[in-house]
Amino acid sequence: MKAFAYVNPTTEKDAVAALGSEFEKTLPIGGGQDLLARLKDYITQPDRVVNVKNALATTVTRENGGLRLGAALKIADLAEQADVARMYPAVTAAAIEIGTPQIRNQGTVGGNLNQRPRCWYFRNEEFVCLKKGGDTCFSTTGENQFHAIFGGGPSYIVHPSSLAVPFVAYGATFRVIGPNGERLVPAADYFTGPRVNVRVENVLAPNELLTHVILPPPGAVKSGHYEVRYKTSHDWPIAFATVLLTMSGTTVQGARVVMGAVAPIPWRAQAAEQALAGRTISEETATAAAEAAVQGARPLARNGYKIQVAKTAVKRAILRAAGLPTA
Ligand SMILES: Cc1cc2nc3c(=O)[nH]c(=O)nc-3n(C[C@H](O)[C@H](O)[C@H](O)COP(=O)(O)OP(=O)(O)OC[C@H]3O[C@@H](n4cnc5c(N)ncnc54)[C@H](O)[C@@H]3O)c2cc1C
Ligand code: SF4
Repeated sequence: MKAFAYVNPTTEKDAVAALGSEFEKTLPIGGGQDLLARLKDYITQPDRVVNVKNALATTVTRENGGLRLGAALKIADLAEQADVARMYPAVTAAAIEIGTPQIRNQGTVGGNLNQRPRCWYFRNEEFVCLKKGGDTCFSTTGENQFHAIFGGGPSYIVHPSSLAVPFVAYGATFRVIGPNGERLVPAADYFTGPRVNVRVENVLAPNELLTHVILPPPGAVKSGHYEVRYKTSHDWPIAFATVLLTMSGTTVQGARVVMGAVAPIPWRAQAAEQALAGRTISEETATAAAEAAVQGARPLARNGYKIQVAKTAVKRAILRAAGLPTA
């Protein structure tokens, strides 16, 4: 890998000061599970790497009826946190399924949310695609089995973060700091599609850091989270979904359905939410809502199968949220 300077600040302010304004020239590092692989593969070649593990919070604190998670919190600690499990079970469900125990023990919440795409063309230094400043997306005519079925073009990545999806579903806010102080960004607005800027996946400027995830009071929602993987050990999901249901007796008053691994951003399925409103959850209503969730999918040549997988994930997440069997 290319040599780089290493900075080890102990405050948020010093961490921001150590970052620069040029894209990918200075980069924060959390657990390094993503960044180190990119450095070793010559995908990213920064001049300076800024360790944020001693500068950002690792804590989970109660705040205004919700929770505030530090960006340097390890995924393993998030997965075991009792308040998170009680108040936001879909976050715990997503955290538990990430990678392996070693990856969860090293990876941080901030790093997970800001990890770069897994598209195999992006991860191969030989392919200078749109996302790396080139003029071609190799996935459109190439191997696109795991690419987007929604919201693609000109890049067809799927967002790699499992935590992003339940955070969007629960209406989290991300605290960001930069040279001009802090700003609060709703999770739903944090992730950006390739039409906004094909080089990046979120609103963060090169000299900004994600410092906290702020979860609002959960209210009386029932939640379900379901992930489908090609193989059950250490792999990213092919499709998954978080479903939140607000019930009035046995009737759904409101629903939130967010899908993952199907689009360049966490993908909210409003048609599915509407299909659930006013209904009692059963096999039939869950199937109809799952069908609605994939309306408008635009698969590429080799990933049409993902429509069925996404449908299954949504249906089973709905059934889980309602406490019904998924098989
Ligand atoms: C085999 C395997 C399976 C995996 N399966 C899954 C899975 O199923 N689901 C899933 O979600 N992930 C999965 N991952 C990815 C893994 O969870 C992430 O690589 C890890 O969470 C990244 O966290 P980190 O702290 O190590 O990030 P780092 O590698 O340190 O950083 C990742 C990126 O985020 C930036 N960054 C880090 N912290 C901040 C911050 N506070 N503010 C702004 N930018 C920041 C860095 O500059 C870098 O670009 C898998 C990884 C492997 C190797
Ligand atoms: S999908 Fe995106 S990352 Fe992959 S080759 Fe196309 S432009 Fe590059």
